[in-house]
Amino acid sequence: SEQTPKDVIDFIREQEIRMVDLRFIDMLGSWQHFTVPAHELSEEAFEDGFGFDGSSVRGWKTINASDMLVIPDAASAKIDPFMEVPTLVLLGTAADTITRGDYERCPRSLAARAEEYLRSTGIADTCFVGPEAEFFTFDDVRYESTKQRSFYSLDSDLGHWNTAREEFPNLGYKIRAKGGYVPVPPADAHHDLRTEMVLTLEELGIVVERQHMEVATGGQAEIDIRYDSLLSQADKLTWFKYVIKNVARRAGKSATFMPKPLFGDNGNGMHTHLSLWKDGQPLFAGEQYAGLSELALHFVAGILNHAPALCAFTNPSTNSYKRLVPGFEAPVNLAYSSRNRSAAIRIPTYSSSPKAIRIEFRTPDPSCNPYLAFSALMMAGLDGIQKRMDPGEPLDKDIYSLTPEELANVPSVPASLEGALDALETDHEFLLAGDVFSRDLLDAWISWKRLNEVSEVRSRPHPHEFSLYFDC
Ligand code: GLN
Ligand code: MG
Ligand code: MG
Ligand code: MG
Repeated sequence: SEQTPKDVIDFIREQEIRMVDLRFIDMLGSWQHFTVPAHELSEEAFEDGFGFDGSSVRGWKTINASDMLVIPDAASAKIDPFMEVPTLVLLGTAADTITRGDYERCPRSLAARAEEYLRSTGIADTCFVGPEAEFFTFDDVRYESTKQRSFYSLDSDLGHWNTAREEFPNLGYKIRAKGGYVPVPPADAHHDLRTEMVLTLEELGIVVERQHMEVATGGQAEIDIRYDSLLSQADKLTWFKYVIKNVARRAGKSATFMPKPLFGDNGNGMHTHLSLWKDGQPLFAGEQYAGLSELALHFVAGILNHAPALCAFTNPSTNSYKRLVPGFEAPVNLAYSSRNRSAAIRIPTYSSSPKAIRIEFRTPDPSCNPYLAFSALMMAGLDGIQKRMDPGEPLDKDIYSLTPEELANVPSVPASLEGALDALETDHEFLLAGDVFSRDLLDAWISWKRLNEVSEVRSRPHPHEFSLYFDC
């Protein structure tokens, strides 16, 4: 059973907690926080909330209507593993001070509405989500910049900050940066660091199924956490990023979930496994293709059908589209297949147990706001079920090796964030069902992304333009 406000207050006393850290998710998916001494948290505070200024939170209120509340969720309480003084973290949702109702742009309450909507359809009561968030660990640019003074000045002007340079010639041989996919140490130089990440996650109650190095140069990694229901998994993924970044920082490194930090190498994906359940029974297992049910095939069709618009949430950065190119194990074509890792949707075949039957959508990347991305994916799948959409034939070939003629009828992901936002502008009715997403949120999202990301990137000379056009 879930912790009540009283349980939390008792826990604070027993554990001699000194500080309470209140956290909420901004529109783009980052934690924001403020801290109160433990004596400021009463049982009433779980109803009354804590006031804060919402005007400076990215994508939220304007200055003339800025007062907001954070309503802490007692069930979310966890001790922060990094803060020096014993600190209890409470995740909250944002509410309006006047109506005291949910603030409709709060991603955490949006995910709660998505789960409610799922139950209201009668189709299922639970959507399980399993994200595989990949990341890179680089030597910390702050540490490096003290050793390598030119690191920020010259290199960042040219956008070459990730090509770490040596100030002094190193004449020794070094270990190859890659080879063999997942070699043991010493080639796998980050094994112990990942283990520390895993142990910290497990102390927080986030069960890890596996950790391994990933394909790309040096420190690319993947740590897989156990599937969970939609909102709870979005909370866990936010903890996950926090743990990865903080363990790395303590070791003098920087971990990044940026989708494509290195040109010419694999990017960071966030393959997302999805399944629907009702009354404890898996609904995706059946007699159709790859052991799927008819309902699961409709769900697949819903995701493929809405994929270009979904990308505005699952791949929401300009950098996301530098990952979605052929040759780096990231999907480009919107098709489904069992086994085939070049398809946007793969049906894993490792296990034959009905409980393990799920679909894996491989397009998302970890720059997404998981509350919005998971909710949008579920809404697309539900739309496919409600409209009995047909996913067409599976594509059981290596898509990268198909000829242009063979590929002509296979649609692909948008080529840019702008393309995804255009798609969302025309295709979003499925998100508005049950008032899960609001027009206000969609407008705020689209205009934030166009103004602060698409046009900011478009208007800057790109480093590669110098090699193409600098005619001296
Ligand atoms: N890094 C790849 C991607 O961008 C995935 C690699 C893998 O997990 N096999 O999606
Ligand atoms: Mg994996
Ligand atoms: Mg992987
Ligand atoms: Mg995978």
